[in-house]
Amino acid sequence: MRKQIAAANWKMNLSYQEGEQLLDAILNSGIALSGNRFAVFAVPAPYLAMAKSKMANHPNFYVAAQNMYSKKSGAFTGEISAPMLVSLGIDHVIIGHSERREYFNESNELLAEKVKIALEHNITPIFCCGEALPVREANEQNSFVSTQLQESLFSLTAEELQKVVIAYEPIWAIGTGKTASSEQAQEMHQHIRNEIAAKYGKEIAETISILYGGSVKANNAKEIFGKPDVDGGLVGGASLIADEFNQILSGLK
Ligand code: PEP
Repeated sequence: MRKQIAAANWKMNLSYQEGEQLLDAILNSGIALSGNRFAVFAVPAPYLAMAKSKMANHPNFYVAAQNMYSKKSGAFTGEISAPMLVSLGIDHVIIGHSERREYFNESNELLAEKVKIALEHNITPIFCCGEALPVREANEQNSFVSTQLQESLFSLTAEELQKVVIAYEPIWAIGTGKTASSEQAQEMHQHIRNEIAAKYGKEIAETISILYGGSVKANNAKEIFGKPDVDGGLVGGASLIADEFNQILSGLK
């Protein structure tokens, strides 16, 4: 069975101490994950080492960076490189979140480079894709997401692609309280899987975890995650509340 993942995206929220408290509340709640069920915490960069040390005795709990640069080192003030993440033992990174695309002008081409360099360093990219409201209203979401996949992922080999986690996040549902219906999520996830199958074959497509993101909460996670092509979620707001995120974790298949 594919990996089922609940990934928390804290974005630029919480102090260091609040982050510690939140992780302690989740990890000490008695929740345990095994088999194909995983939790990933994408914490702000200054908290990566702290979060990593807290996961030490918690199998299937991982830490992710929220972003990473496309170069290995050099004069790129303020950026974080893949080798830096490796040196902290961090093995997941979110690539291409819609906020990075929108506010930091990250293009599909740049994201292709970031995915590639993450994979070269054995870091799992959680690659985000998804359409804005006008695209959905024009019913062009499928071709829009296909282009994102083609331009950022489809030059990878099949072996490389199998190491990528995809997160479908309709922008109109992020932080808005407006969730895609579980049917809309399933429809797009199936489309993404079909696109992968067309390029790499059905067998490869069946192995790729595709997460849904966009106002996932304790009260809707189970229904959304229950859809056949949805393999968990990327969660913003609700991941900042221990009880909410624990319930979301329990909603994994
Ligand atoms: C996100 O940050 O990727 C996200 C989906 O946020 P929210 O759950 O708050 O909509």
